[in-house]
Amino acid sequence: MTNHSAEQASGSGLYQSQRARMIDLLRTRGIRDAQVLKAMSEIPRHLFVPEALASKAYGDHALPIGDMQTISQPYMVARMTELAQVDKDSTVLEIGAGSGYQTAVLSAVAGRVFSIERISDLARSAQKNIRQLGCYNATVKWFDGTIGWSDHAPYDAILVAAGSPEVPEPLVTQLAVGGRLVIPIGDAEHQTLVRIIKTERGVVRENHEACVFVKLIGRYGWPS
Ligand code: SAH
Repeated sequence: MTNHSAEQASGSGLYQSQRARMIDLLRTRGIRDAQVLKAMSEIPRHLFVPEALASKAYGDHALPIGDMQTISQPYMVARMTELAQVDKDSTVLEIGAGSGYQTAVLSAVAGRVFSIERISDLARSAQKNIRQLGCYNATVKWFDGTIGWSDHAPYDAILVAAGSPEVPEPLVTQLAVGGRLVIPIGDAEHQTLVRIIKTERGVVRENHEACVFVKLIGRYGWPS
């Protein structure tokens, strides 16, 4: 990101119109949450991808960000944030910061965001990316997110941006009563977007759409 010009950072006309088209597409695909759409209409996604891919940043697809990882497809970022139902009073845990784009979106709609990334280079650049955009209510740390981050629990929402064979138990433990956990569950190639809602009497599990994410690797995810 260091090589991007100030003009790109402020969002030149070209990027602004591409972003507006992306928002129209998200609406067409069924995203309704006004706060999520507003955040995504303002955050410069092209600054979260390698410079050579900046012209592709507003297409509705994942893109490589190095270390064999990807920035999630805009629709999935929007859908997961919508399912997490956060507002300015929410404390949110994110697992899999990647580029930091989803972190920036969460930071715009939530109160506080704690994000974990297992690859140190990505954790560092995600933290740098969000700070450059002035997100001061979000922090990215480098460790295995499948164990959660107990220091700041309980969380009103937990969003996992990588696919897991099952729901990591520590994340359910660290969810507040009434809290939402949004996580892709399935095999390495195909998952279903699952929302867990914690209630006084246990958890309610909802299955949403099919999705494809990179693997959640860690103690309560995939072994490698
Ligand atoms: N929302 C991010 C998506 C990144 S892809 C974006 O839009 O840029 C998923 C990320 O999850 C990868 O960067 C991967 O390294 C990370 N990841 C996988 N397993 C993890 C774990 N156990 N803890 C933290 N991060 C993990």
